[in-house]
Amino acid sequence: MRSHRKELWFETAKRMELVHITAQVEAAVRESGVREGLCLVNAMHITASVFINDDEPGLHADYARWLEELAPHAPTSRYRHNLTGEDNGDAHLKRQVMGREVVVAITEGALDLGPWERIFYGEFDGMRRKRVLVKIIGE
Ligand code: ZN
Repeated sequence: MRSHRKELWFETAKRMELVHITAQVEAAVRESGVREGLCLVNAMHITASVFINDDEPGLHADYARWLEELAPHAPTSRYRHNLTGEDNGDAHLKRQVMGREVVVAITEGALDLGPWERIFYGEFDGMRRKRVLVKIIGE
C-alpha cells in the first residue's frame, strides 16, 4: 500500500474566509501516484473546517450570513470560552457546524467527486498561518 502526506498552509486576509482547495488536493493525489484509494483532508485547527459543497459565490455569502447569525463574532463577551482571554468563541462553534474533514474516493488516479462537489477550507479565525492535512492511502 502507498501512502502520501502533505500539508497545505493558509493565511487568510480576513477573519472568516472560504477558500477553494480542490486543485491543491488534486495535485496531492497526482504526487501520491495512488490510482485506487482514499483521500482524507482535514483542518488541523479547531477554529477551521474542511467541507465539500458548490463553488457558487451566492451560496458562500449565504454560509457567511448564516454562520454569523448562528454564532455572531461580537459581542465577544457572549462566549464563556472568551473568558480564557481569547476572542474566538464563535469560530469554535462555526467550525463544529461546518465540520472537521472530508474523505474522497480516488478512482483511476483522480478524486471521485460528484458533478458539483468541490473541496473548501473554511477559516473562522484567520489572519494567521494555519494548515490542512492531506493523507492519501491506496495503491
Ligand atoms: Zn479558542
